[in-house]
Amino acid sequence: MRGAVLYGPRDVRFEERDEPRISKPTDAVIRIAAACVCGSDLWPYRGIQPVDQPTAFGHEYCGVVEEVGSSVTKVKPGQFVVGSFFASDNTCPICQAGYQSSCVQREIVLGAQAGRLRVPLADGTLVATPGMPSEDLIPSLLAASDVLGTGWFAADAANVKPGGTAVVVGDGAVGLLAVLSAKQMGAGRIIAMSRHQARQKLAREFGATEIVTERGDAGVARIKELTAGLGAESVLECVGTQESMMQAIRAARPGGHVSYVGVPHGVQLDGAGLFFAHVHLHGGPAPVRQYLPHLIDLIWNRKINPGKVFDLTLPIEQVAEGYRAMDERRAIKALLRPEARP
Ligand SMILES: [Zn+2]
Repeated sequence: MRGAVLYGPRDVRFEERDEPRISKPTDAVIRIAAACVCGSDLWPYRGIQPVDQPTAFGHEYCGVVEEVGSSVTKVKPGQFVVGSFFASDNTCPICQAGYQSSCVQREIVLGAQAGRLRVPLADGTLVATPGMPSEDLIPSLLAASDVLGTGWFAADAANVKPGGTAVVVGDGAVGLLAVLSAKQMGAGRIIAMSRHQARQKLAREFGATEIVTERGDAGVARIKELTAGLGAESVLECVGTQESMMQAIRAARPGGHVSYVGVPHGVQLDGAGLFFAHVHLHGGPAPVRQYLPHLIDLIWNRKINPGKVFDLTLPIEQVAEGYRAMDERRAIKALLRPEARP
């Protein structure tokens, strides 16, 4: 089987890898229906987060179960399933509280930019769709695996409420789907911070009511202007840089909620600044598993179309071009079509 392997900065290769197989009785092996490149893959791709050895990449997946381990009872071969980037048992106290991405047994799922994938803790991790999806639903189901689930968590953790005002910092796939999620949760105003025209357009399609192109101090000033000088009740930080984090905290009103779902890189917060900001901060790796049943239902019944974030489709052997296009911001998100089965 061939799959994507990251060797170092800007060096992604599509090459022969070991065939995934059941190594624990709780595993499943799935045949990937579609794979993609994540914004968070760009951190190691750019060398900001070093990789010390060649690493199989890709952590967003959906596909058909081919094989399950001897103790797997809920998931069956032939089912179409969606899972998240952290495998979880979905039974421990942390999972029960809705934080499956911090499950006591959690395991990172890697290697999804390939034809097949081993998924640990299959019973807790994978959620089956009601049947075999039609081709046009696959991009949206793939989006549910990470970017939609993460955008949904951003809206949930920022306490988006019907009629409330939500500000979304970041116009990558997660930011755009955070807009969609805030819309689904009934936000009355959704202000998307974006300076990129194609992304602004998609943000509006997903439910943004206003666009703010300024960033930093000017961006915060603009949000204050739009909210009677107060700041927003909910701010969703979907980038992970110092600038975006500060922009989010400062755009929130005292008593407001700030969520942060972009993997932080070099973010440092000042204690006194945080103290006087008087905001609720809640973020982390999104517990996508918690939301999957609901998200699959919304997609299955065509209430939402998160698959629109994929604006580039490539055969998987051109995975390196997918990384390049996203790195250069030529594409919002690249979908990778698996190789034809031998
Ligand atoms: Zn757990």
